[in-house]
Amino acid sequence: MLIALLCMVSGCSLLQEERSGPAGSTDFVWDRLASQLTAALTTKDEAAYLAGFTGAAVDQQRIFFRNVAKVPFDEVSFQPIGRPDANGQLKVAFVHRIRNVDTYAVAERYVWTTQTREESKNQWRMTVSHVAGDTAAPRSYYPAPWDVYDDIEVASSANAVVIASAANAALVKQHSGAAQKAAETNLALWSKNVPPGTPTAQGFVVVLEPDRKVFDAMYREGSQDGGSEAGVAIWFNRHVDDAYTPAPDAESEEEAIRKGPGQGVSRIVVDTSTSFFTAKGNSPGVPSIFEHEIAHALVAPLSGTRRVPEKWLVEGFAQYIEVVNNPQTAKALEAALQGYPFGGHLPDDTEFEDADARVVAASYALGRLAVQFVAEKYGARKAFAMVIDQYTDPRRDVVKASIEKATGMPYDEFEPAWEQWVRAKIPAMGAW
Ligand SMILES: [Zn+2]
Repeated sequence: MLIALLCMVSGCSLLQEERSGPAGSTDFVWDRLASQLTAALTTKDEAAYLAGFTGAAVDQQRIFFRNVAKVPFDEVSFQPIGRPDANGQLKVAFVHRIRNVDTYAVAERYVWTTQTREESKNQWRMTVSHVAGDTAAPRSYYPAPWDVYDDIEVASSANAVVIASAANAALVKQHSGAAQKAAETNLALWSKNVPPGTPTAQGFVVVLEPDRKVFDAMYREGSQDGGSEAGVAIWFNRHVDDAYTPAPDAESEEEAIRKGPGQGVSRIVVDTSTSFFTAKGNSPGVPSIFEHEIAHALVAPLSGTRRVPEKWLVEGFAQYIEVVNNPQTAKALEAALQGYPFGGHLPDDTEFEDADARVVAASYALGRLAVQFVAEKYGARKAFAMVIDQYTDPRRDVVKASIEKATGMPYDEFEPAWEQWVRAKIPAMGAW
């Protein structure tokens, strides 16, 4: 019955090859292959793993296997999505959860080109001759470091997994301590000021990459998202069961919020050719970029929806975390505000994308000064409560309510009060 049904849907040429179990069984050959490869990965049996591949895919997958073996996982599996198409192309989710980091399992998506042959009567065997990222999928999270690098260097500590190409092993050696320290600093500051049980990421993956092209593509091939940022924290959707991770933006916002946290997993990628890593003297350095990006990753488990709060809050919170213990960094970042035409308003999202780098830098600083204003006047707990409220539900009315809750001040009075405080703090600020 099942065979007949499949026949109608997509032609019969492959059907006799697709099943291997007894009649009525749903033991499909691609499921069996995925289980075997999962078992080989889990037991770190390279020969068993490579037996699933042919041709050029063998060398490629040897690299994948050895790279993945260096990463600490709590969970790893291949899960076919549907069935192979007429050309043998099978979509596969590489489901994984990195130890001490991932709140939920996430899935990177591949397309396997498969071949099936009959080994003995009614015994079919599938192999994979080519593996590519499923870049047509909206969030394939491809490529990961284990896809990009011929050999990876991994350093794991209590709260950080730092990864680079083995060719850049020196970077890992040099900076993994700073990543752990930034994670500890952020977690200590956060947990001191938020209610117990607040969903919080406890560990962080940090990929160190000096090549801008590789940096731009990491985890986001197909997005063509190459911006000017020195670092990025990419949020991953939660993988649900054996299906494609649903895109939360396809759900109604109410539905996403009702269902609660849907993300919770991030990957941080930093460009080690930027001044954070190369500059000497007083400019913001490595701890600054690590604390900033880890701040973004820290709050990912709060969000039930793909939508994030307005950028002044998102970047303001990250920069607040970055500078709260570093007055010198704060000063350096405020340089953008000298003579800046400040209109007394919170920067809007477009100003964070402005072609003028100074407008962008000033917007970051102003966002941070909004969070800092609440923290200094009403206490860090109030500021963090405002951050939690807005991540949990970023709708505009909730934003206003969260500010009122934190400051006891109606929203209409908040901006002028903040403006006055900013002008007093930065006398060289300009005006419209
Ligand atoms: Zn940021």
